[in-house]
Order: sequence, then C-alpha cells, then structure tokens
Amino acid sequence: MKKKINFARERERMVFEQIEARGVKDRAVLKALLKVPRHMFVPEDVQSYAYHDEPLPIGEGQTISQPYIVAYMTEVLQLRDQDKVLEVGTGSGYQAAVLAEIVREVYTIEIIESLTIKARLVLEKLGYKNIHFKVNDGTLGWEEHKPYDAIIVTAAPARIPKALQEQLKTTGRMIIPVGSMYQELVLVTKGEKKVKKKKLLPVRFVPLITTH
Ligand code: SAH
Repeated sequence: MKKKINFARERERMVFEQIEARGVKDRAVLKALLKVPRHMFVPEDVQSYAYHDEPLPIGEGQTISQPYIVAYMTEVLQLRDQDKVLEVGTGSGYQAAVLAEIVREVYTIEIIESLTIKARLVLEKLGYKNIHFKVNDGTLGWEEHKPYDAIIVTAAPARIPKALQEQLKTTGRMIIPVGSMYQELVLVTKGEKKVKKKKLLPVRFVPLITTH
C-alpha cells in the first residue's frame, strides 16, 4: 500500500526550514508558499519529493524551480496586491499560483503548448481566476496588457529581451536569470530616466528557447 503523505505538514516544514531559514521575510510570500499545494504541480512519480529542497522534472525536459528560488524571486519583486504581473515560462503553473495569491492579475506565457494545457487544468481545479495564459515565445512579452508592475522570467536568455524591458512600467521591477553557461539572477528596476540592473546570485535555469 502507498504511504499517505501529510502534504500540509511537509509544506510548513519547507517554508520554515528552507525559506524563512534562508532569510525570506515578506509575509505575503510566506503565506502564498504555505498555501499553494506544490505536489499538485509535479508528475505523480515525483510527488513525494514535491517539498524537498530541489528543482524537479515536469516533463518536456523542463523543471519546476527549487522552492527557495521561487520564494526569493517573488520577494525581490516587492509585490503589492493591486499589481499586474507578467511571467515568462508557465511550466507547471506553480510560480503563477504563488503570484496569483499575492497580486491582482497574472499573465503567463509558455512556449510548449502541452505544458500550458496541464498547468491550466491544475490552476482551474484549484479555483484561480486571475491567471491568464498564452502560448507563444515569451521574449516578445504580452503587448496587449502592458505595462506590468513586475515581470518574472523563469528560463534563462543570453541577454535581457528588449520587449520585456519596454513592457515594464516605470518604477516596475523585473527578475530574470541571464547567461548561457554561467547564469546570474538580475534584478532590473525601471526608473524615470534610467534602467538599473543588479546582479543578485548565481543560478541554474533551463535555457530560454528563442524563435527569432
Ligand atoms: N515557472 C515554472 C518553471 C518553468 S521552467 C514553474 O513554476 O513550474 C521554464 C519554462 O520556460 C519551461 O516550461 C519552458 O518550456 C519555458 N520556456 C522556455 N523558453 C520559453 C520562451 N521563449 N517563451 C516562453 N516560455 C519559454
């Protein structure tokens, strides 16, 4: 017989031991991580690892990021409840759910259609009504709904796509892994006159697929 796992308890431990312990403090972020059932976003055969301190495969050669990285990237965006956020790389839909717990609207783009279909099913089942999906090359952004208060990119391009920077609101923030062999998380802050870029930490993401 399969052992029954207490996912809620695993989730509490994840937040306490992996996320708060490493310095994430934003209450809204911690609350979202406590609530979103991460095990529902991963394939059944890896469900028992859903709350472990590691990224996991989600099919199509793609991965769901390590919980701490999800929390860290969300926290640095300094989100507010009225914000409109763009995500590039829907993947499993987990990061989109975390964002949807915190902000008003989430627009998420994925290049692999089968992943969008799966993510959409899970997110609808969980009752999210503020997540909007698009299958496309996310380096082009989603022009129709710009400007965004925040943008989060969860696959790594060699350099920051121009369209994304352009679709970011003045005073907006973007978090993006940049680089090919060696990647770093970069926080982009758009000011009235200047765009500031700050390297935060070394990371490993799947490469962003480019179509042009
Ligand atoms: N945020 C996801 C993790 C995504 S992994 C989650 O929470 O599960 C990165 C994702 O980016 C993959 O699903 C990959 O297919 C997607 N991707 C890669 N290149 C892309 C592109 N150009 N536009 C949109 N999505 C892209």
